[in-house]
Amino acid sequence: MVSRVFFKKYLTGVLVAAFTCGLAMGLTHKVKKAENLYRIALKYGVSIDRLAAFNGIKNKDNLGVGQVLRIPSGKDVSPAANAQRTPKSLRVIIDAGHGGKDRGAVWGGVRESDLNLKVALRVEASLKSRGYPVTMTRRSDVFVDLRRRSQISNRYRNCIFISIHFNATSHTGVKGVETFYVGKRGRFLAKAIQNHLVSNLKVRDRGFKFKRFSVLNDTLCPAVLAECGFISNSYERSRCNSSSYQAAVARSIVSGIEGYDRAY
Ligand SMILES: [Zn+2]
Repeated sequence: MVSRVFFKKYLTGVLVAAFTCGLAMGLTHKVKKAENLYRIALKYGVSIDRLAAFNGIKNKDNLGVGQVLRIPSGKDVSPAANAQRTPKSLRVIIDAGHGGKDRGAVWGGVRESDLNLKVALRVEASLKSRGYPVTMTRRSDVFVDLRRRSQISNRYRNCIFISIHFNATSHTGVKGVETFYVGKRGRFLAKAIQNHLVSNLKVRDRGFKFKRFSVLNDTLCPAVLAECGFISNSYERSRCNSSSYQAAVARSIVSGIEGYDRAY
């Protein structure tokens, strides 16, 4: 009897020690500013779903800066995950509009340049997880002039250029999304992105339109500029400022890119 109790205590001690040790050795990641679950999952080569489940995260779009995530061990080896990471040949240039001294539109304390960057970083992480090479014209709150943005893009041949913006007008009742393009392939890409934006966001469809914005015109590859909502409209501004809306915008842009890539 005595020996059985002793054995039980001994075993419990060993298990507690092993568990504590396992936790201490486990990999963790402290969430930094402008990071999202997609990027962290990509960094450690695990799927977003597995990372979320491992940490008991229900809302994948709501991470707090400084939050510590436990990283599951081992890479994902599911066929779906492998297929997603098959390298693609089409390079995607992501252009977060404005930045630094150029804030773009500013309404109700919301800066367009910040929204553009948040969406751009989400698009980047999502595209990379699908195997696309991505080039960003900016990855932080810095000023980049329009010519420089086109020059960055013009270093590459097999690429597409996507400029991300949010809209504003003095007519504060105006709402909706619209996508501009130059060129025949640009038109196809703009149409694909616009369709996904409208169906995912349930917003007013302002259409896809030809317009020679200089950043599009000076870019050699197929180029589009998406206006992803009006921050001059109070209803749309609060939506645009939410991480769930930004995630849906990013998803729509990525779906549009995939549609284009399948067609060309
Ligand atoms: Zn803009």
